[in-house]
This record gives sequence, C-alpha cells and structure tokens, in this order.
Amino acid sequence: MIQQTVNQGGVIARLPEHVANQIAAGEVIQRPASVVKELVENAVDAGSQRIEVIIKDAGRTLIQVIDDGVGMTEPDAVACFARHATSKLKTADDLFALSTKGFRGEALASIAAIAHVELRTRQRGQDIGVRLLVEGTEQQAPEPDPAVREGTSFAVRNLFYNVPARRNFLKSDAVELRHIIDEFTRIALPHEGISFRLVHNGSVVFDLAPGSRRQRVVAVFGAKYDERLVPVSEDTDAVRVEGFVGKPQFARKSRGEQFLFVNNRFIRHGLLHKAILSAYEGLLDGKHHPFYVLFLTVDPAKVDVNIHPTKVEVKFEEDRVIFALLRPAVRRGLGKHNVAPALAFDQETSLNISERPPAEGIRMPQVSVNENYNPFRIGGQQAPSRPSSAAKGAWTQVLEQAGADAQGLSGWGRSASTEDVEQAPLARPSKGFFADANESAQAEAEGVAEMTGDSRPVMQWSGKYIVTPVSSGLLVIHAHRAHTRVLFETYVRQMDAGSRPVTIQQLLFPEFVELPNGDRAVCEESREVLSMFGLEFQLADGGIEVTGMPSGASTDAATLLEAILEDGLEPPDEVSREELVAARMARMMAFQPGRKLNKTEMGDLVDALFGCSTPGLDPFGRPVIATFDEGDISKKLQ
Ligand code: ADP
Ligand code: MG
Repeated sequence: MIQQTVNQGGVIARLPEHVANQIAAGEVIQRPASVVKELVENAVDAGSQRIEVIIKDAGRTLIQVIDDGVGMTEPDAVACFARHATSKLKTADDLFALSTKGFRGEALASIAAIAHVELRTRQRGQDIGVRLLVEGTEQQAPEPDPAVREGTSFAVRNLFYNVPARRNFLKSDAVELRHIIDEFTRIALPHEGISFRLVHNGSVVFDLAPGSRRQRVVAVFGAKYDERLVPVSEDTDAVRVEGFVGKPQFARKSRGEQFLFVNNRFIRHGLLHKAILSAYEGLLDGKHHPFYVLFLTVDPAKVDVNIHPTKVEVKFEEDRVIFALLRPAVRRGLGKHNVAPALAFDQETSLNISERPPAEGIRMPQVSVNENYNPFRIGGQQAPSRPSSAAKGAWTQVLEQAGADAQGLSGWGRSASTEDVEQAPLARPSKGFFADANESAQAEAEGVAEMTGDSRPVMQWSGKYIVTPVSSGLLVIHAHRAHTRVLFETYVRQMDAGSRPVTIQQLLFPEFVELPNGDRAVCEESREVLSMFGLEFQLADGGIEVTGMPSGASTDAATLLEAILEDGLEPPDEVSREELVAARMARMMAFQPGRKLNKTEMGDLVDALFGCSTPGLDPFGRPVIATFDEGDISKKLQ
C-alpha cells in the first residue's frame, strides 16, 4: 500500500542495493591501499602467523592477501560478504572492549561491490576448503577447493571496474604503491610476532621475520636505523608507552617517519604529536622532524576508535593525561641514552613512575577529586566544601561555569565524593599522576607549597607562575596564559552552542571613548560580536558611547577597547573574527600577572587547563607550560 503511493506520486525511490553498496564502498575503499589495509587487518584478526601480500600494478590489476589464520567454514565464506557481517562484534557493548582491527563488517562488502573477488579458504583442522567468486551483485555458488592451504586467500582484481570516477582518480603507480607500503608498514610495525611479506610485480619489497619490536623497526626502516633508535618505556596507571624515538642528529627535513599506535592501531593525534615534538625542545631546530615509533597501550574502553570510518583519528577520554606523560617519557628516553648531554642523568633513580604491578591492568585516572581530602592539614584547615555534582565530569563543569563566572574562578565547581576518590588513581597517595604524597610531604616540610583543597600541591611563584609537581617532574604554568586559554576555549564553545559567552553589565553612565574614524568603523562593523562579549555602544562624535561592559571586566572601557581593537579586527587565515575577539577578550578577562591567586583558584585553573584541547599554547600561540623532569633538575645539581 505505502509502497504504491510512493511510487505513483513521489520522486523518492529506494536505491537498489548494489548502488547503495557502491556508495558505501567509497567511504571505506578510496584506493588500492585501502583494500590492502582491510585485508591485512582481517588476516591479523584471524590469528595468522604468516601474511603475504601480492600486488600487481600498484593494485590496479591484483591485490592478493594470503594468510595462515583460522580460515572460514563454507557458510562463513558466503556470509562474510554481506554488509554488517562480522564475527567480531555481537553487542554494542563489545565496541568498548575491542581488541580486533575490524568490527564494522563493512570491508568485504565494500570491496566486493567495486571489484572482482576470489576467496579461497580452509578452516583450521578441516581437510578441504572452499572457493568462491564474487563480483558486485553476482555471487557464485561456493565450490569445494581441495588445493587451498589452511587459512584464507582473498584475491581482488579489477578494482573500481564499475566506478570509473574512482579509477580515473587514481594517481601514478609510484604514488599508489607508496600508499600501499604505508598501510602495510602501519600494520606490520606493531605486530612484530607475525611474519609479513610484500611482493610487487614479482619483486620482494618487504620480507619481515618475526622478532622483537626493535628488530621489526629495523627490518622495516633499514639496518642503519639500529644505531639511530632510542628506546622509550614508561608505565603508569593511565597508559603504557613503549617504542623508539630517533636521535636528534638523524632527524630529517621531511616529515613522515612518525608512527603513533594506540593499542596496536596506527593513529594520528595532533596533540600527542606535539607532546612528542616538544621533548626535542632545544635539541632540534624547527625545520627537522624526529623519527618516532611509539606504542601506547590504554584501556580500550577509554579510546573511541569509532569516530572515523577509516579509524586513523581517535579520541581519548583522557588525552590530556597522556599528553602530560608523553613529553617527559620521551625526554627521559633521550636523556637516559645520553643523546643529549644536557639531559643525561642517573638511570637507576630515574624511574619511579613504573612501579605499578602489571597484574593490576591499566586504569585511567578519573578527574574527580575529593576536595575535602588534604593529607597535609595545614593548620588543621580544610578547604571549604563546594557544591558537588559527581554526575558531570569536573572538567566540563569547570569549563561551563567559567563563562558564567568570568570575574574569577571562585565559583568553579568540581565533583567530589569519597567513593570517587577510592576509584580515582588521581587521588591515590603514591601512584597518582599529579599527587605524590612523598613529594608533597617534603614540600610541606620545606614550607614552600601552598596546598589546594585537594591532594595536589600548587604554589604561586613570582606573581606569574603556578608551580605544581607531577610524578615525573615539575610543571611551571604561566597563569595568565593558562587562564587565557581556558577562557578562550570556553567562549568559543559557548558561541558554538549559540549562547553569549560573557554577560553584559549595563553602565549607569555611558563612558565616552575617543576613537579614530577607522576604529569607529570597525566597532560599527563588529557590533554583533562585540555585543556577544558584553560590549555595547552607540556611535558618537569622534568616538563611541559605551553603554554596556562585559561583567567582570576590571578595566575601563577605553583600555578594554584598545586591547580588543589593537590594530583592527582582521583575523589571520583560518581564524574567524569571533575567535579573534574571543582570544583578545580572554586575554583581558584572565588573571593578570602579579595578581595573587589562592590555592583554590590555582588548583581549579590547573584542572581546567588540562581539560582544554590545546593546553600547551595560549590562543596567540605562546607557550603555557614548562616541564622540568628529573633530568633537567639533576643536571643543575651535578
Ligand atoms: P570486520 O573485519 O569488520 O569483521 P570484514 O568485512 O572485514 O568485517 O570481514 C567480515 C568477516 O569475515 C570477519 O568478521 C571475519 O569473520 C571474516 N573474515 C574476513 N577475513 C578473514 C580472514 N582472513 N580469515 C578468517 N576470517 C575472515
Ligand atoms: Mg575487517
């Protein structure tokens, strides 16, 4: 009935399935390298010991992947080409405990929609295998195949035969082969126990024997890399970091030899990349890029691999923690191996971060902190209890409230309850990322640290900086820039959400501000965005009459306007005018150097900073955090 109505009167019709599959295929399979990636990942998931990849004409003619994994039964061989057919995920909950590469059940359906596929497979322990041909919508009946070995072979021919646009878009063989090699490498590097071979047009490109991680890295990149590698190894509750970074003297002018893996999956992550680069501060000029192959292991429940179909971008629940760990970890590696004389220090005493017994498994620090917990009880005083709402992440809360209460940080809430603390490695006395009871007790004995209401010691120094210990060293945070960063991100988020970042305080007596004509015109042009930030005015002769000011601003209108307008409101490339105003406003509203901060303000600011997407830089690109690890400090004390 309904079907009829639609067909008669409407213009909408359901796409035939093969067309839908072709469209969907475009998301998964962009080029021959995508096929290689999907097939090799499947082979790894199948528990293979040996995986061979055979390519002809950069994948245009043939991509074949042969493995010695578990193989498939005949019904599975037929079923594996259906969309959303997967053996790896049964319930939505499984998504949060994934250890396999695939889980979407889309790859084979996509490949079959745009190529000719021959599958030959024999399940382990079976005498006979099965052979199956699939071409788009045509799936031939499976036939017994006595010749096939245990394991699976997928041969993909005539890629994009029915999608000329894709086929024509392919680059030269050299470029496509480069992509194939990249994908192959990204899978081979973290699976050093599996033997991998890549053959192109009859010549062997890679023949990688099983071995140690170091052997695998050297086999992939070449023997000369052996002397260039510096091992990195660090283990905390939040994350395990292992792998190698290149000695600075071998850094290259070109990028590309930078590999970051999370749970053995290749990822790109701008923030973590920056953390790694920052470890080379003082060792490299800006023009050279260091080599690295680093493997992070985190609880799969805390990584979202699902946000991008090709799964290179990931989101971590706790990326600021990993960020803050990565730089000192790499730096310590460089220091320990005397790469940089400036960083050299005693190996024995350097590692106090990895004392966690391995059986405990990996846990991520929680952000909730018990505000009443103060192991140091200065003068018997406890920080006053603030309203708590454990349901919401403390970071979110802090950031949300920042906008509403921009004058100061006094009203910033954070979640707290005793149960939280028990589950929160953050607050655990000796293993927490931030708080270390011994460090703090010492600091207290020396009378230098002003404690926050929670377990993290913070102190203000020189009117400008907040100093706080983390288990791997000392962080010195530029308070004004940190606060600018926090306010900026809050403002931008609020604008994105369609709300006003700063409230207006109407002035009883409008303030006349003299402005040159140019600035007056800029104000008029930007009336809307200025008003979003609490600045309201009327044009007047020779200037403007300011009638509303951002509430919480501690300057007069003239100073504020001068700072907002600077030399106009022309944002640099890729920055909107709103963002430019947000950045300048944040700079004005932030704690100014010289202002005395109390411990709650400092603690909250540090928390909020690490909740930001870019804690390391203020919106104007100036650094916010300086880290001093043990290497830095012991060098001074030699
Ligand atoms: P996914 O990997 O997301 O499960 P795919 O479309 O890549 O989806 O594969 C579908 C299913 O086919 C897999 O879940 C697996 O059961 C089976 N399969 C694919 N490749 C192999 C292989 N090389 N060996 C054994 N089984 C395989
Ligand atoms: Mg797969």
